Amino acid sequence: MDAGPKDWRGWLGQILVIIETEDGLIGYGVGGGGKAGIHVVETVIRHALVGEDATDVEEIWEHMYSLTLPYGQKGLAIMAISGVDLALWDLRAKRVDKPLAHVLSEDVKMSVPTYKTGWSPDEVIADGTQGFAALKLHVGIRPSQDIGDVVGQIRKVRNKLGPDVQLMGDAFMKLDVEKTLKIADELKDVNLGWLEEPLPADDLEGYARLRDECPIPISGGEHEYTAKAFEVLMRDRLHVIVQPDVNWCGGLTELVKIYEMGQKYDIKVCPHRGCEIWSLHAICTIDPDPLAESGRPWITWVKDQPEIVEGKIGLGDAPGFGVRFDEADIGG
Ligand SMILES: [Mg+2]
Repeated sequence: MDAGPKDWRGWLGQILVIIETEDGLIGYGVGGGGKAGIHVVETVIRHALVGEDATDVEEIWEHMYSLTLPYGQKGLAIMAISGVDLALWDLRAKRVDKPLAHVLSEDVKMSVPTYKTGWSPDEVIADGTQGFAALKLHVGIRPSQDIGDVVGQIRKVRNKLGPDVQLMGDAFMKLDVEKTLKIADELKDVNLGWLEEPLPADDLEGYARLRDECPIPISGGEHEYTAKAFEVLMRDRLHVIVQPDVNWCGGLTELVKIYEMGQKYDIKVCPHRGCEIWSLHAICTIDPDPLAESGRPWITWVKDQPEIVEGKIGLGDAPGFGVRFDEADIGG
């Protein structure tokens, strides 16, 4: 699949993985890595798939991981594996003709609360009347901005929405430890639910300092890969909330493990862009405290995705993930 750089599909490098079994079942998954990801799937990962039993999802995941180990472990290779893994889970559920949620658990929630991420104070203030359980403001600092702008934007939203709305901030890796601590100090009275990704994902020493010194709960993980890496974040309590992206972190096989670790370490798991179908089946079943993220329509070319109604979202009853794709949208 291909797209121009201004298209979200291109910016995120999203790839559509289609796996067909010998008896004609078709599984869909979305991963990342763009053309590099496609190359990895077509030249390397395929050796873990062709001729294998598609229901052996966890075994195939280990094989894919080992095949890409020399250059993989994080980033593009794991993003590509994520798409394949999700297509295998789609097949696993279609094989038994059930929605994927019913494969994960017998206890499926009819609908779950959502929160909305907005890219400006005015957007978040407008979202405040739409029934969302919480709201988040993107405050990634631009070169023309300073700490005062970030503080002012969050304070503006809080003042407008009042003290009772659950409000969070997302810095998209644009701060450093000192800036984060200064912002947190100036926002002490604002009651932020969490401050997301203040630092680059690999700055574990920085996150350890924030764990010890920052008064606002720190979340992150949308740019982290594999359950093994999430275990470090949880074991060392570097994040109060972890936010794996199922299309990037290694797929549903890894997200299931991350949820199990969340129980073990008593850390909340709140998947990145959880209103998209790829983690929604898990959020509606194995998530003890569901809160699905909505934001800009990240992937618009997935058809039959559930819609948010009055701030809540639920699943349909089609087998697998329950989504389809139009030929016209599939290129490359
Ligand atoms: Mg984020």
